[in-house]
Amino acid sequence: MNAPNRSGWKPGTPEAPDGAAGGATVSGNRGLMLEERLIFEIGTTATTGVDLPAPQPGAANRLGGLERRAPIGLPGLSEPETVRHYTRLSRQNYAIDCGIFPLGSCTMKHNPRLNEKVARLPGFADLHPLQPVDTVQGALEVINELAMWLIKLTGMHGVAMTPKAGAHGELCGILCIKAALEARGENRRVILVPESAHGTNPATAAFAGFAVEGIPANAQGRVDLAALTARLGPDVAGVMITNPNTCGLFERDMKAISDAVHAAGGYVYCDGANFNAIVGRVRPGDLGIDAMHINLHKTFSTPHGGGGPGSGPVVLSEALSPYGPLPFTERHADGYLTLVEEETVGDRHPHSFGRMSAFHGQMGMFTRALAYLLSHGADGLRQVAGDAVLNANYVLRSLEDVLDAPFAASGPCMHEALFSDDRFAAGVTTLDAAKALIDEGFHPMTMYFPLVVHGAMLVEPTESESKASLDQFIASLRAVAERANSGDASLAQAPLLAPRRRVDETAAARKPRLAWREPPGEAAAAAGEAA
Ligand SMILES: *Cc1c(COP(=O)(O)O)cnc(C)c1O
Repeated sequence: MNAPNRSGWKPGTPEAPDGAAGGATVSGNRGLMLEERLIFEIGTTATTGVDLPAPQPGAANRLGGLERRAPIGLPGLSEPETVRHYTRLSRQNYAIDCGIFPLGSCTMKHNPRLNEKVARLPGFADLHPLQPVDTVQGALEVINELAMWLIKLTGMHGVAMTPKAGAHGELCGILCIKAALEARGENRRVILVPESAHGTNPATAAFAGFAVEGIPANAQGRVDLAALTARLGPDVAGVMITNPNTCGLFERDMKAISDAVHAAGGYVYCDGANFNAIVGRVRPGDLGIDAMHINLHKTFSTPHGGGGPGSGPVVLSEALSPYGPLPFTERHADGYLTLVEEETVGDRHPHSFGRMSAFHGQMGMFTRALAYLLSHGADGLRQVAGDAVLNANYVLRSLEDVLDAPFAASGPCMHEALFSDDRFAAGVTTLDAAKALIDEGFHPMTMYFPLVVHGAMLVEPTESESKASLDQFIASLRAVAERANSGDASLAQAPLLAPRRRVDETAAARKPRLAWREPPGEAAAAAGEAA
């Protein structure tokens, strides 16, 4: 099946597992773990998976000079080779369908197959955003129904459905705040961002043109209320607070923070990406929040493991709703739904700051999220939050005897458990522990985030893991922690059993090898290496 030396892993290269059972093979495969080289290395310009008829004489003339003059060197494979190439690559991926995906903050939970079935219904999947409104009443019904659920669950006044990710939603909320301040004729330049906020929060505020100022966390891992209130003043446009925060803790002073910010003339943005920990139990509207994005692709399943698609609707308070973006759905007396856009808005929404996206948002994510909401129901959602918190506390309390848990004394955590490298022997790092988890067959947890904790390890199990799955993960992380605490030097070599060892992540990002032809020097070096 494989040509000899098809593998990128040659005996003696750093990827070869030192002394691992089986050692090097001729094929480069290790058991059923198949090696795969770049398509540029295995494909040739002479091979193709399609069988096109020979050009008719004179056909080139009809192209009017647009035909290609020289081959462009794209690699070709036959159809079965193409299928195998991508199938092999997919088997090197770790995915939520393979096992627990314990990334903190990202909420990698199970994707119910019902969501996928609904999103693939032709009436939703085959829509075009420019179709006449009377042919898409069902789709508008989905957007409108989902909007109603989000408003109800959050206790807010309005919702902007079009932002396409959490960070995009943050921008939407901050642009609402900016528009509201402009309408008041005020030029407030500062957004306060606590240390326990997600990294996208200060990035968003800076991107929108505000000056960002940090607010320290207190010893319990929460916002230092006194430091925050002391900094409020006529130059402060607002605060951006992640709640539950990135230490996995609920900001208990949220209402007091909102009241103080409002009294000082500012607005309260809440990063609601962690809404899964409180859905059905806390309504952000009751806490005085003015704008909050919800990551449909976290809280309501469908995690973004492949880089998308996401969806980040923003719920808005009564004070900020007039500034929200177009378009939005509107129901008429006869039940008919329309989209209110620039052409049709008239003078009904005169203060809108504009638009977040060309069309109406991520339809596929809307259908998935609504399927999730309706299949769980209000009581099921309440239980989602309870189970997510229960699972995280189970992880926290099962490991706090071997891993430093800096805020374990602050009470129960919310949806994620935070550990530090404090008990590791000198020289052993969080990175070593994460790489050792790969040998155990797990995707590592979030590393070195949040920044308030040294060598942080943030674990979010989510509610969709069983106790058996959690016990397996805990046993592996416990074993890794014991090795780290005792200074096991072999940890620096991990992973030993993965298709690749430690790659140069900076070079992989900055100088990716994506080209078929290598620069002359490198090609010669590669030839020498192969020989
Ligand atoms: C994921 C996340 C974001 C950003 O959401 P994206 O959809 O990735 O843009 C912001 N804040 C928190 C707390 C998050 O977990």
